[in-house]
Amino acid sequence: MTESPAGLTADHQTGGTGRPRRVFVIDDDDIMLLSCRRILEKAGYDVETFNNGVDGIQRIQEQRPELLLVDLKMPELDGLQVIERVRTVDPDVVIAVITGYATISTAVDAMKAGAYDFLPKPFTPDELRLIVNRGHERWRLAMESERLRREKEEAERRFLTFVSHQLKSPLVAAKQYLDVLLFTSTGEMTPRMREWLSRAQTRLDEMLSLIHDWLALSRVERGTPVEAGAAVDLAGLIAAAVEASAMQARAAGVTVTTDVKPEVGAVRGDEVSVGTIVSNLLNNAIKYNRVGGTVTIRAARDGTTAVFEVADTGIGIPEHALPQLFSEFYRVKSERTRDIPGTGLGLAICRRIATDLGGSIDVCTRVDEGTTFVVRLPAETPGARQGESAG
Ligand code: ADP
Repeated sequence: MTESPAGLTADHQTGGTGRPRRVFVIDDDDIMLLSCRRILEKAGYDVETFNNGVDGIQRIQEQRPELLLVDLKMPELDGLQVIERVRTVDPDVVIAVITGYATISTAVDAMKAGAYDFLPKPFTPDELRLIVNRGHERWRLAMESERLRREKEEAERRFLTFVSHQLKSPLVAAKQYLDVLLFTSTGEMTPRMREWLSRAQTRLDEMLSLIHDWLALSRVERGTPVEAGAAVDLAGLIAAAVEASAMQARAAGVTVTTDVKPEVGAVRGDEVSVGTIVSNLLNNAIKYNRVGGTVTIRAARDGTTAVFEVADTGIGIPEHALPQLFSEFYRVKSERTRDIPGTGLGLAICRRIATDLGGSIDVCTRVDEGTTFVVRLPAETPGARQGESAG
């Protein structure tokens, strides 16, 4: 590390970030600007001063300083207006206000506008250095935590890619080999061998659906952003889900009917998210039903909300299970559910998506009679869209 003329180490000058510690000062008093510059340059800061807010804000856009000291009382743009505008061009810069008329209410106003600290005039060089050092440390910590957050996100993304490619692909391949083996070697295998292979296939299917649900949950938890203004036609999603589950319903001996009011229209959200809710609830309603049972899907509009229900005539859910029903990996353990495959993630995913989209999901159930899940989602209203684009 090298010694600077001010007797400071290079690392001290950069705050360990590899860039000079830059401070901007905005004050209409030239003498104040000069003394701030002298004190802070001596302390190893790279200082730029401005005697009005307009010039300062323009330079902040180009230079991105770590720290801004701004006088509250100035002609033209005052300190609070400067803070508000700076916040829109650079949300990261740490701002401290300088004021000659320090009152609690001005401090509160400045903090509300986005300032971090407060330096009443007159101040000593030590007080100025202290506030600037503290502000710089705050900036460094904010950058560090942002870096860690990004690293964590990247690690999660890599892990998800790893799971989907490195785990899922070999399982799919193994399952395909088993399919071929069971299909082609009809005469060469004993019934026992066939049974073992079918069991291996079932275990692979379970593992694949666990990975599928777990990936879906991770995507939701990572907050896959729903595009602003995205909307999806609920009736279309319901029709597609019913069609996709037709084979499952037939195999289970369950009849699926729909009662979708035309005015239900579109709901706010993307096709994958809303489609996941519809298909998870429909699959459960078939899976936890009985031979000869029914599933009824209803959808209607209630003011600005789309209400969507999946009602089945299945096994129902015992009351003691209700508090944990939407928790991850929770499954009701009973004689009736023992042989029904599942991961315990479907409802957790549904609730998470519903709340992320600004809606809700509730359940009404009676053992041996059936279960109804009710989902409420904000409906897409043409008026609201116009309002958004106008704003
Ligand atoms: P799973 O993969 O086990 O179906 P879910 O999160 O979708 O996971 O559901 C959690 C549990 O809630 C299920 O294991 C089941 O016991 C119960 N459950 C969900 N839907 C129904 C339903 N329609 N009827 C009866 N029980 C249900």
